[in-house]
Amino acid sequence: MTDSFVHTSYASRVVFGPGTLEQVAAEVELLGVRRALVIATGSAQQAADVVEEALTERFAGRIDGVRQHVPTEVAEAARATAREVEADGIVAIGGGSAIGLAKAIALTADVKILAVPTTYAGSEMTPVWGETSGGSKTTGTDVRVLPKTVVYDPMLTLQLPLHTTAASVANALAHCVEAVWTERANPITETAAVEAAKALADGFRELLREPEPRSQHGLTSPADLSARGELLFGACLAGSALASAGTGVHHKLCHLLGGTYNLPHAETHAAVLPQVARVKAAEVPRAKARLEEALQTDDLATGLFDLFKAANIPTSLQALGLTREQAAEAADRFPGDVEEILTRAWAGTRPE
Ligand code: NAD
Repeated sequence: MTDSFVHTSYASRVVFGPGTLEQVAAEVELLGVRRALVIATGSAQQAADVVEEALTERFAGRIDGVRQHVPTEVAEAARATAREVEADGIVAIGGGSAIGLAKAIALTADVKILAVPTTYAGSEMTPVWGETSGGSKTTGTDVRVLPKTVVYDPMLTLQLPLHTTAASVANALAHCVEAVWTERANPITETAAVEAAKALADGFRELLREPEPRSQHGLTSPADLSARGELLFGACLAGSALASAGTGVHHKLCHLLGGTYNLPHAETHAAVLPQVARVKAAEVPRAKARLEEALQTDDLATGLFDLFKAANIPTSLQALGLTREQAAEAADRFPGDVEEILTRAWAGTRPE
C-alpha cells in the first residue's frame, strides 16, 4: 500500500526535442510577451542570434555577461537593463547561471521567463533563486521566478565539453539522490528521481562510449543526439523532483561552499554527493535500492563516486582549490554536523 503523502507540483509548459530552438519566438508570443530581453551565456551567442532575429519586434534587448552564483552587482545591472528596455519577458539561454540571472530579475519585476537550458543543472524547472553578495549566497523559493515555458533542444548541448557535461550530470544526479530523503520527498518525487537517474546514467554511458563527439567534426550522429536527448530529459525530471521535494543537507552544503569560497557549482556537487549519500541513503532503504538499480550499482555512495571518478571529474574539494582550513571553517558554519562529510569530501575518500 502506498503511504499517505502531500505533493506540490509546479506548473510550467515544456517543449522538448531537437530543433525546438526555432519554436522559441512562437512560444514567447503564446506567453503574451511583447518585449523580450534575451540573456545568453558565452557559449549560446549563436543560439541567441537566432532567437533575436526570430523575435522581430518583440526583441527588446540582450545581456551577454553571465556569471556563476549570480553576484549581486551582476543582478543589479541586469535589473536596470530590464527596466530600461521595459521588458515584460526574458528568454534565458544557457546553464543555471543564465537562468539564475533571469530569476534575479523576475524576483523584483513582473516578467515571464522562457528558459532554454544548455546544461543539466535543472534550474529551469524550479522556483528556487540564488544571489551572492559579500561571499555569502542567499537562496529562496518564489513561484514568480519559475520559468513559464521551458524549451529543451538537445542540439544546443552537442558541443558541451565532456568535462562540463560530466560535472553537470553529477549536479543533476544530486537532485535525484537528494529528492528521496528531504522532508517533502514523496512517492511522486521518488519516482521522478529514479526515472531521472536512469535517463542520466543511460545517457551518460552512451556518451562515454563515444567520448569524442562526432558532432565536433562537423557531423551530428544520431547516437550523440540520442545520448544528449536522454541527458536533457533526465535533467528535466531531476529538476522537477528537486522543485517538489525541496533541498536537504546536500544542496545546502553545496550552496554554502559555492557561495562562500566561489567553488564551481557542478563540480562541488560531484565531490560532496557520494559522501552525503554514504550517510543519508541508509535512512531511505527502498529509494536507495531503486536508485541503485537505476544506476546499475550495488551501493549508491560508492557507485556515484566510481562513476564520477571514471568520468574524470574531481572527486575531492581539495582538487577544486578549497583548503583544509576552509573545509573546517565551513563545517563550523553549517547548521548541522557535517564534519565527517566535509573531511571526506575534502580528501576525496572513497565512501565505503
Ligand atoms: P553555468 O551556467 O555557469 O555553465 C557552465 C559553463 O558551461 C559556462 O562557461 C557556460 O558558458 C558553459 N556552457 C553552458 N552550456 C553550454 C553548451 N551547451 N555548450 C558549451 N558550453 C556551455 O553552470 P551550471 O552548472 O549550468 O549552473 C550553475 C549555476 O546554476 C549556479 O549558480 C547554481 O547555483 C545555479 N543552479 C540553480 C538551481 C536552481 O534550482 N535555482 C539549480 C541548479 C543550479
